[in-house]
Amino acid sequence: ATKIKVKNPVVELDGDEMTRIIWKKIREELILPNLDIDLKYYDLGMENRDATDDQVTVDSAEAIKKYNVGVKCATITPDEARVEEFKLKQMWRSPNGTIRNILNGTVFREPIIIERIPKPIPGWIKPIVIGRHAFGDQYKSTDFIAPGPGKLELTYTPADGGDKVVMNVYDFKGPGVALSMYNTDESIRGFAHSSFKMAISKKMPLVSRISRTILKKYDGRFKDIFEEIYQAEYAAEFKKLGLWYEHRLIDDMVAQAIKSSGGFVWACKNYDGDVQSDILAQGFGSLGMMTSELITPDGSTMESEAAHGTVTRHYREFQKGNETSTNPVASIFAWTRGLAFRAKLDNTPELAKFATKLEESCTETIDVDGIMTKDLALAMYGSKMTREHWVTTDVYMKAVEAKLKSKMAEA
Ligand code: NAD
Repeated sequence: ATKIKVKNPVVELDGDEMTRIIWKKIREELILPNLDIDLKYYDLGMENRDATDDQVTVDSAEAIKKYNVGVKCATITPDEARVEEFKLKQMWRSPNGTIRNILNGTVFREPIIIERIPKPIPGWIKPIVIGRHAFGDQYKSTDFIAPGPGKLELTYTPADGGDKVVMNVYDFKGPGVALSMYNTDESIRGFAHSSFKMAISKKMPLVSRISRTILKKYDGRFKDIFEEIYQAEYAAEFKKLGLWYEHRLIDDMVAQAIKSSGGFVWACKNYDGDVQSDILAQGFGSLGMMTSELITPDGSTMESEAAHGTVTRHYREFQKGNETSTNPVASIFAWTRGLAFRAKLDNTPELAKFATKLEESCTETIDVDGIMTKDLALAMYGSKMTREHWVTTDVYMKAVEAKLKSKMAEA
């Protein structure tokens, strides 16, 4: 069969452990046999990050900037144990953090929904796409333990030599704790643009968790910037597409979300996003079915990956030569979402069709044929699960490959 020509390059970021094994199979068995594609390959495996003093991560992010599309395998974020395990020169930073900082994007997570797999929240029949503003707030805060009685003040010194502003925060009568945090208009603007663009691209309404009841000025700034940008640049298009945007209180928002049938984009501040995306992953079933997309504020560039990690627990079994049943779906979707974005940028519907066919091959193998990995079988059968209910990663991927072949032949 003739391969589909991909007009422009795609940046490929390789990773670690179980997902690295799966990633290679996806490339060799599902992508390369079907596409004539120029992959700009960067090996972000732990050993190569250490060997290059993490320069490879920076280079890969620059390449994504240049070519506009990156697909990424899960990678180890080193901790003390990893430094020891790999004899690392130092505790390198999270590659995702490094890439996000260079691209200045917002990360959105979206579940892949399969009808036949029961969900802990059964009402969620449509995906909820969650966007986390990954800059500032608690993650860049200065926290402090007050050892005893004393006065806590917050001082702002204008760079232009204007008058200092000194704010009285608290008079400690005894020991306690304190915290100071910040965000910037520039970053909030980028977050707003990414969120509105994501809602338009998914054709889903946007809800933001921004209210000024407690942090009147801090959260108020988020709300005002979102509102201003919405009215100026997106309201017309939202209206045309029949979408809407609103902001809600977090408690109201959580109640609404649980009762809803899904089908919206949820823009979260940094900490809320961290917590809510884990709740979402649980609510929709398996981590192996959660995708993640980073999109830049101008909407020109995206990087996609699975939301889960390198599945170390399974890798240890693999290393012992035991059979493994790791769900490859979110990793396959990292490829398809990237390819679909490439197709949109290049205006190549044939490539978009391929991405859809590959996604359908994954979901139909589970939904129609009942062939699935252990995590999904567990969600379906619970304590009644037996060995007949699930297959290994290899068997599942073979079934996907066969289905894709027949779909490609149909065309
Ligand atoms: P993990 O997501 O790899 O796995 C946690 C657990 O979730 C697994 O033990 C398994 O029970 C389940 N799970 C996750 N993905 C699955 C899949 N595809 N199929 C079946 N079950 C699945 O998280 P972890 O064990 O905390 O971390 C392992 C490594 O991954 C760490 O080194 C961490 O730094 C890294 N990590 C990377 C990313 C990323 O690159 N985006 C994200 C999270 C963790």
